[in-house]
Amino acid sequence: MAKRIIIEPSRTLMEFRLLPGLTTPDTVAERISLRTPLVFAGEGHREVFLNLPLVSAAMQSVSGPEMAIELATLGGAAFIFCSQPVAEQADMVRKIKRYKAGFVTPTTVGPDITVRELASLRDRFGYSTFPVVDSENRLLGVIRRNDFDEFRHADLPVRDRMIPYDRLEVGVEISDLAEAHRLLVESHQAVLPIVDRDRKLRHLVFRKDIRNHLDNPLQVVDEHHRLIAVAAVNTHDYQSRVPALVEAEVDVVAIDSSDGHSTFQRDALIWLSENYPDLPVIGGNVITEAGFRYLVEAGARAVKVGMGGGSICITQEQKGTGRGLATTIMRVAEERDRYFVETGRYIPLIADGGIVSAKDVVISLALGADCAMMGRYFARMEEAPTDKVMINNRLMKPYWGEGSSRARYWKEIRYNQSQFVEGVEGFVEYAGKLRDNLGETIAKIRSSMSSCGVGDIPALHQRAELEIVSGLSIREGKVHDIYMPGNESNFNDTWGS
Ligand code: IMP
Repeated sequence: MAKRIIIEPSRTLMEFRLLPGLTTPDTVAERISLRTPLVFAGEGHREVFLNLPLVSAAMQSVSGPEMAIELATLGGAAFIFCSQPVAEQADMVRKIKRYKAGFVTPTTVGPDITVRELASLRDRFGYSTFPVVDSENRLLGVIRRNDFDEFRHADLPVRDRMIPYDRLEVGVEISDLAEAHRLLVESHQAVLPIVDRDRKLRHLVFRKDIRNHLDNPLQVVDEHHRLIAVAAVNTHDYQSRVPALVEAEVDVVAIDSSDGHSTFQRDALIWLSENYPDLPVIGGNVITEAGFRYLVEAGARAVKVGMGGGSICITQEQKGTGRGLATTIMRVAEERDRYFVETGRYIPLIADGGIVSAKDVVISLALGADCAMMGRYFARMEEAPTDKVMINNRLMKPYWGEGSSRARYWKEIRYNQSQFVEGVEGFVEYAGKLRDNLGETIAKIRSSMSSCGVGDIPALHQRAELEIVSGLSIREGKVHDIYMPGNESNFNDTWGS
């Protein structure tokens, strides 16, 4: 006989509905904050917060650098997939970190190199602006694309073409973007060098980056105002993968496993906390209270929960393991709250697998998750790293599981993976740009929280009231008994006349 047999069935998100609470001027949709912790901060660790409770799945067909840049710009984060060679994943992280920076650490040149040499550096790095410094890194001037003619001035030293220090507006010891912006506007310059009191160059701040920051107030940035980068790692090659990711300046890593309750994951967590104590690590996936405890006690600073619910997932069918995501979140959140009372450490939970819409996101948050991970939702976007295809006159994007034969191909040559697959490949309907789709999804999440009378996610955790609905109730909640040309399935008379 089994050690434990739970007769109560596990529940899915779609079986729940939220009961409205009192909406007040403080909880109207536009005042709602969706800020949420990605990892436990404290005990000297820095905070990593998202401004939207949404992350994209660590999958080849979902999370490349374009998705990561756009999603972090809008307030969330993409988990860069680890089913690829180490160097390629590190390059993706580098691309995110270099994409936009409030305070850029620039490549400098000396005053005596020739314009010809400068032009070749420009071609190599792709930069159009170089600060000119002396041997002690003291700023002498700045040279930009328009300051020289590559052929006419080829043999001149850079010092003859640069804008010299005394004609430049510089910021001394500035670390605030708003202040940098003020100086830039006043100076009419496109770039502001930041120096210390000894005139030694610290950073450059570009006007276009500040504009980007002001246009996207929710963007998620590190302490240098660079977009944050999150990368998945596996329990096989983390000892070589993580050093490369850290060198590329990754902010957070997530151990990616369909079943994270394992000694392999504990070993990885311990190794990571010994070798990279400042690097926040997300563990997972688990679906039990015991799994959660095991990972946090080994050092996980957030835990990803869910097994078997993913739209491309056949784990439940293949292995018979899994749990409805709603029950998973409830059980693990209870354990997380107990752990918090015992230790004072609040471990964020990321709900993962089978979350398809705004209402699923809010219900998973109300049940106790801190943010929602989605694969299928993001795979439909322009920014997913796949090409659009036309199938039966519909524009689609391919979407495949990390456990499908397609994703595992690269690993098979390395690890001799097992003989069966846990995921499928298919297509999802192309949805357009992330920014446009996310706007609508976020509006629905805010409106739902407003109806519940809560102004932020912690309040939703404390005050949400949910109810299981019957199958008939779910049917009643959909369009019925109305004739809509082209969608006759809604028209039936089972509800009476
Ligand atoms: P979706 O949002 O319902 O499409 O689910 C995405 C999630 O499914 C991912 O974040 C993973 O946790 C999980 N997943 C990804 N690939 C596979 C697979 O091949 N088999 C089972 N689960 C998978």
